[in-house]
Amino acid sequence: MIPLQQQIPCSDEESYRRIFAAAGLHKSHLVFPVFVSDSPATIQSMPAMAVTPVQKVVQYVQSIAESNISSMIVFGIPKSRDSIGSSAFDKKGIVQEAVRQIKSAFGDAMSVTTDVCICQYNLSGHCGIVAHDGKVNNDATLRVLAKIAASHAEAGADVVAPSAMMDGQVYAIKSELHSRGLDASVLSFSAKYASSLYTPFRSIAFRKPTTRLDKSSYQVSYANSRVALLEIETDINEGADMVMIKPALMYLDLVRMVKDRFNYPLAAQNVSGEYAMIKAAAMHRWIDEEEWKVHSIASIKRAGADKIISYFAFDVAKYL
Ligand SMILES: [Zn+2]
Repeated sequence: MIPLQQQIPCSDEESYRRIFAAAGLHKSHLVFPVFVSDSPATIQSMPAMAVTPVQKVVQYVQSIAESNISSMIVFGIPKSRDSIGSSAFDKKGIVQEAVRQIKSAFGDAMSVTTDVCICQYNLSGHCGIVAHDGKVNNDATLRVLAKIAASHAEAGADVVAPSAMMDGQVYAIKSELHSRGLDASVLSFSAKYASSLYTPFRSIAFRKPTTRLDKSSYQVSYANSRVALLEIETDINEGADMVMIKPALMYLDLVRMVKDRFNYPLAAQNVSGEYAMIKAAAMHRWIDEEEWKVHSIASIKRAGADKIISYFAFDVAKYL
């Protein structure tokens, strides 16, 4: 061991490189989230992130590609909503259009995953079709999710990622893709915890701050790891190509547990609230933003995630 006084001082950049090397992180593990819409918008609760208009999406993705990140996930924010979220499966919908443009510009150099849900497209903001009794109808929602996923795959998506947490969503989507001869992979948001950490994202999706929406009847309770493990096992059995845990940082115990138990391709999403906390504290100069970004991404990798979806992906790619 080198005595302390003889240690060579290193720059922050060198130390961040070492942290990522020790955690085994490579650029291929990073997935950058992109919000597409019909018009540009800034996001107050997510500084440095913006909503990209579909007309400029290729230009925006070019900057991601230049940082050598080769994987992204598209979240759509449609111009209007209706009761069944019909613009989610419209062939000319915002996500379908963005995917067509990105794939025709970048081809295999950019793997495109799409978020498959209806909460950004319907009036209720719930991830399923709400029946007359006010409850989410699981089976009616499955048919819609399958239609959405197929429309994304037809547009060229490499991976479709159902995030609705409906029972049977992986099987329904796999069957639909198979029947139409589409070969997109399925990344299931298998253990999506009911969490207040999604608030900044919801403020974009609704184009205004929202009151708390109770999704606890279909998302996993944050105190529970047993149900999450069951959800993941079910999705693997239904044929998911990769499973996901979301949020990431407060659930690193689960990331490790799932990796150890199933040894299956695993993604974790570092969500909008996790991003906003670091950004807000940094704006007050209470923390070193760069250091916190690096430590949080490294910790998700160390816990066992194979893919990390993070708004910080672009920022930390320079250390890899
Ligand atoms: Zn949803």
